[in-house]
Amino acid sequence: MNIHTKLTLRFSLITASILVLFSLAVYLFSANFRREEFYQRLESRALTTATLLVTVDEVDKNLLRIIDDNSVPALPDEQVLAYDSSNHLDYGNTDHPRRDYPPALLDRIRVAKKLYFDNGDYEELGMVYTARGQSYVLIASAFDRYGKSKLYNLRTVILVGLPMGIAIIVLAGRIFAKQVLAPLAKINDSVTNITAGNLDQRLNEGNQTDEIARLAMNFNLMLERLERAFEVQQSFVRDASHELRTPLAAMRSQLQVELGKVRSLQEYQAVLNSQLDDVESLSELTNGLLLLARSSMERQRLDFQSLRVDEVLFNAQEELARLKPDYNFQFDYGNMPENEADLTLLGNERLLSIAFINLMDNACKYSPDKTVHISLSVNNGSLEISFKDNGPGIPADKIERIFDPFYRVEHVKGKVKGHGIGLSLCKKIVELHDSRIIVQSTLGKGCVFKLLFAAQHIG
Ligand code: ADP
Repeated sequence: MNIHTKLTLRFSLITASILVLFSLAVYLFSANFRREEFYQRLESRALTTATLLVTVDEVDKNLLRIIDDNSVPALPDEQVLAYDSSNHLDYGNTDHPRRDYPPALLDRIRVAKKLYFDNGDYEELGMVYTARGQSYVLIASAFDRYGKSKLYNLRTVILVGLPMGIAIIVLAGRIFAKQVLAPLAKINDSVTNITAGNLDQRLNEGNQTDEIARLAMNFNLMLERLERAFEVQQSFVRDASHELRTPLAAMRSQLQVELGKVRSLQEYQAVLNSQLDDVESLSELTNGLLLLARSSMERQRLDFQSLRVDEVLFNAQEELARLKPDYNFQFDYGNMPENEADLTLLGNERLLSIAFINLMDNACKYSPDKTVHISLSVNNGSLEISFKDNGPGIPADKIERIFDPFYRVEHVKGKVKGHGIGLSLCKKIVELHDSRIIVQSTLGKGCVFKLLFAAQHIG
């Protein structure tokens, strides 16, 4: 069942129930009121008659009957009877009472003092009246023609009006549900038209305050994030293909030129060496891309273990030293934490090692002395590893961008080999380890890359 139907049904059900209950209450209240009012009138009629009968000696019973029948507030088909203590009908405003009142009933009235009872269409009141040492049982009965006809009228109005009212409620419910859901229907239409090709489209945010407007606003924020992510993805693919295509095109044209004529053995060797360089660079790039994809995985899917970070760092340094024998590594042990637990954290050894290698490699390759100064320390409970160099530094406005994939600062392009994915990989790895990377740079003097880990103390 769709929300429109559900809303209509619920609205109709609630409103119709209220209407039915209200009508019922009005009817019952009116019925009760009529009854009580009629009994009051019966009582006052009985009392008037009794007062005249008992207290005014001079009134002859026939005269009393005439007075009774003609008094203005007489009730339709009114009958007033007075029984004395020996159950003898002492007075009646009619010669033919509507029914017999057996002594048992009269006794019940004497016990109860006042009794109301129905006799078909007639309502009857029995009460005890005492005066001048005499006790009478008065029975007044009459037919409430006007009251009952009013009540009947009310019932007809309710029975005819109620279905009409319910029909109007259902109709109003449908319109109400349609109006309430109209903004959602609009959002639905707009969302249906948004595809990967037009992620720049936004939903109408209406008055920007109600719940539906907030839904549209949140949806727009999500679209913005999606659009940005999509752009990053697209530019990544574009940059990656560019990075792969350029060396491949260079290799192809070199091979075409070299194959144009027969060369000497030395020349072939030189070409093959140059090709090997290019292949190595390409394989470095593809490895980097693969790692970048792997580091984008969620943390749960990666193998995280308890690690001694100093050991990972020394192993990474040894690995890099083997690959680049001309690099110098200066360890500063001055602030090295003494407590082993301070150096323990939960992480992925291979990924951490790749991050360390990248930072040490950058420090060495961008500084003329090819030296990196490495230190390990604990500050305010967080483990800090810093890589400092004496290179050219990074312009302040470029520091944010160096973590973007394929971004390289202008002045290194063509001078130092690289693809611009090392730092973006580092950043991803660091984030996977719930840590931060901070860069401090002084142009012309060098820079420091600091990794801050919230150390995971074990035992
Ligand atoms: P790559 O080194 O392959 O170019 P990275 O992602 O590692 O790629 O670095 C991105 C850019 O940041 C580099 O191209 C360089 O311009 C700058 N950079 C990184 N490390 C340093 C450093 N230690 N000194 C100066 N510039 C650096």
